[in-house]
Parts: sequence; structure tokens; C-alpha cells
Amino acid sequence: MSNEPNGDSEFENLDCTAVLADIWLLLDNECDDGARQRLEGHVNGCPSCLEHYGIQRQLKELISRKCGGEHAPEGLRDRLRMEIRRSVTIRQTTIRIDSE
Ligand SMILES: [Zn+2]
Repeated sequence: MSNEPNGDSEFENLDCTAVLADIWLLLDNECDDGARQRLEGHVNGCPSCLEHYGIQRQLKELISRKCGGEHAPEGLRDRLRMEIRRSVTIRQTTIRIDSE
């Protein structure tokens, strides 16, 4: 009757989509320690999330270079985030913010 998964591997319950959606928070240092550990734990053990984490980190650097600040304008960031979310399901991520 008790069909519960073994307790304390909490981050294994995170699914990749949720992790990828939260990676921005991680990059921006906007999440608390617990969330950070869960995310990092998952990313380190999950090649595809690790790959996307790398992409997003580059993206963040690109944005800060382009916009001359730490944060992208809200519109741009939201758009990129949506793009990323959409491309998560397709395994190929093509991000073009170099073409203006
Ligand atoms: Zn993952």
C-alpha cells in the first residue's frame, strides 16, 4: 500500500523542466540556499541540465555585455526565458541574440 519513493533524495524528484526554469534564479543568485543546493545537485548529476546551465550562463554574459549592465531589460529576459523553456522540449537550443 505504501508506494512512497525512498525519502531523502529530494532533488531527484525535481524534473528537468523545473530545474531549467529555475536556473536563472541560480545564475542571478536569487534563490535561497536550499533551492540552490537542490538545483546544483541536480545539474551536476544531469548532463542535459548541465549543458543548458552552460548555455544560460553564456547567455547571461552575452546579455550583460550587450546591455552594459548586470540585468537584461525585462522584456528581453522574459522573451529569452520563454524561448529557452520552449526549446527545452526540443533537445536542440538555438538562441540568437546576436542578430539585432
Ligand atoms: Zn535534469
